[in-house]
Amino acid sequence: MNATPSSVLEDGHREIVDAFESFIRRELVPLAAELPETADQPPADLRAYVRKRSAALGFYAGDYPEELGGAGIPFTAVVLLHHAAGRSGCALAPYALAGSDGPSPLLRKGTPEQIERHLVPLVRGEQTRCLALTEPHAGSDAFRLTTTAVRTGDSWELNGRKTFVSNADRAGLALVVAATDLGDGRPAGATAFVLPMDQPGLRIGQRYEGMSGEPLFELLLDRVTVGPDAVIGGEEGIGAATALAIDSLSRGRLVVAATCNGIAEYALRIGVEYARERQAFGRPIGDYQHVQEHLVTTRAEVEASKLLTLACARLVDAGTEAPENAALAKLTASEAAVRAVDRSLQVHGATGWVRGHPLEFLYRHVRMMTIIEGTSEVQKVIVARAMGLN
Ligand SMILES: Cc1cc2nc3c(=O)[nH]c(=O)nc-3n(C[C@H](O)[C@H](O)[C@H](O)COP(=O)(O)OP(=O)(O)OC[C@H]3O[C@@H](n4cnc5c(N)ncnc54)[C@H](O)[C@@H]3O)c2cc1C
Repeated sequence: MNATPSSVLEDGHREIVDAFESFIRRELVPLAAELPETADQPPADLRAYVRKRSAALGFYAGDYPEELGGAGIPFTAVVLLHHAAGRSGCALAPYALAGSDGPSPLLRKGTPEQIERHLVPLVRGEQTRCLALTEPHAGSDAFRLTTTAVRTGDSWELNGRKTFVSNADRAGLALVVAATDLGDGRPAGATAFVLPMDQPGLRIGQRYEGMSGEPLFELLLDRVTVGPDAVIGGEEGIGAATALAIDSLSRGRLVVAATCNGIAEYALRIGVEYARERQAFGRPIGDYQHVQEHLVTTRAEVEASKLLTLACARLVDAGTEAPENAALAKLTASEAAVRAVDRSLQVHGATGWVRGHPLEFLYRHVRMMTIIEGTSEVQKVIVARAMGLN
């Protein structure tokens, strides 16, 4: 293949990306081929197998240091792996890399005991977690919380209702963010707690069926009583959840951007292949300029978005984690991926619309990308602020 502009930024990590792609081809593609064509999500035991196997090979949570069970690879390499997973089109590849159910940057700010007990099993893929931040009246405005954590002596009592929590049914741990009351009635910001899912008083409520088969859950906290060891970061973590969350957002958003770029590239590739083969009016449809328009516009958007994402990832490795950079990349990549999948489906006509076709699933799956990790509008608010407009 000819060198693309983004290959300039990929070259330094070619070896690990090649190794990951080989793992997908040799181990994951054959496993994925056994899944029923219309199954949106792989079964939990298969996901767990893929996660652990990938961790053993140094891919899953690869940027975590070796002493925590990771492989210590640069963040840019991790971003490239997420891109490769999306680009592969393999239904199991995304589960080979740590996502929103994997090791949380919040726990990196945990006490040494929390890191050993909770973070290390997550990095090794032995455990998954969920994050309970969103509430029925606190979505984009995430810290307008009504879930409370009240301190009495050494212990805390948590009460409230969280919503749209991913992975709550499979997680071993919940990271719960609550408005803090130090017992004197004065608010003390938001605090993040780590709770085992079998903690008395913590239970799953309603289940919401997502449009791509991934369920979300309500999480109910009814007089959940925990000790000081449940506060992430210990005494220093009290009231610090907002700052901790903001610190961790950039990386999460760049990972989503990379996944989106990969999905868009996959949609483009199968769109081009189809346009070369499919005949209409006696010629391949790729001969028609209206069809070329769909594919060339996607190519331009994907390449630009990939460059932006990789440049931001490099800045992170160089020590600059500007939230507005990650917001720009996530906004650009997620919006571009939604358009890329839509256009490729259009190029496929009815073939792409039929249940069981990869584009039919991707059309439903990619739609969440402009909502999760902050909506597109919220990314624009962040960029506008950085431009001095608010
Ligand atoms: C697939 C999926 C997985 C999720 N997983 C989790 C999870 O694991 N844990 C968790 O806690 N939450 C999770 N969420 C919830 C997610 O974080 C929220 O949906 C998201 O933050 C948006 O909140 P909302 O849905 O309440 O929308 P709202 O905040 O009500 O927003 C509605 C609309 O108003 C716009 N809007 C809001 N404020 C502004 C503003 N200031 N300027 C301009 N426009 C604005 C939004 O962009 C959006 O278009 C998940 C959601 C999805 C779809």
